[in-house]
Amino acid sequence: MSSIKQNITQVTREIRQACEKCGRDTDSVQLLAVSKTKPVSAIAEAIAAGQRAFGENYVQEGVEKIQYFSQSDQTLVWHFIGPVQSNKTRPIAEHFDWVHSVDRLKIARRLSDQRPATLPLLKILLQVNTSGEASKSGVDFDQLAELAAEVAALPNIELRGLMSIPEKADDYASQFQAFSALAKARDTLQQRLPQTRLDTLSMGMSGDMEAAVAAGSTMVRIGTAIFGARDYS
Ligand SMILES: *Cc1c(COP(=O)(O)O)cnc(C)c1O
Repeated sequence: MSSIKQNITQVTREIRQACEKCGRDTDSVQLLAVSKTKPVSAIAEAIAAGQRAFGENYVQEGVEKIQYFSQSDQTLVWHFIGPVQSNKTRPIAEHFDWVHSVDRLKIARRLSDQRPATLPLLKILLQVNTSGEASKSGVDFDQLAELAAEVAALPNIELRGLMSIPEKADDYASQFQAFSALAKARDTLQQRLPQTRLDTLSMGMSGDMEAAVAAGSTMVRIGTAIFGARDYS
């Protein structure tokens, strides 16, 4: 079995190759290591290999890990990428640096209200439903502009871009099409909100990273390829 360090090296190489293939700067895509369900020992290995940004899906688990590592390392960046329930916004607002999965104004308002004034603005991505009826989470394209304008106006959060989890597709063309739709939505939104720096497109996972990078991803979310399969038993 290969080590977490070797896996990070390999994934980093794949990101670089995907960038070269489509003529993008090799440092224009950030690797988010998705560590949900994985122990702190695995995260510590990734940190030792130079990884700084981690994604978590479950509030309590994520907060425990953040608190554990905050004693020794202030340079880590924690991203909440799971579904956000409105009764769980406070610990997210108090501990995380980014939230990728905001798709309702109510959630954004609560995160803004609950973000401590002593912390930097909480960075927010709006999760967009790029798969139509097949997905229940994410804002629809036709409601995105209105939601984005409202979220961008909230005081203690900073809208930075869009995220999507497209329906699983095995062929490159369908993957690329879904990611391009998200990139195009970001471009349109940027024109409507010129004061807001929408520099982040969180898209691409282990199986569709190359298409995501070709379509303009700035952040790929990789779990299994770094930490191995998850055990939910
Ligand atoms: C779990 C998860 C990932 C990582 O998935 P892998 O298949 O393990 O790479 C990425 N994004 C989100 C939103 C996730 O929930």
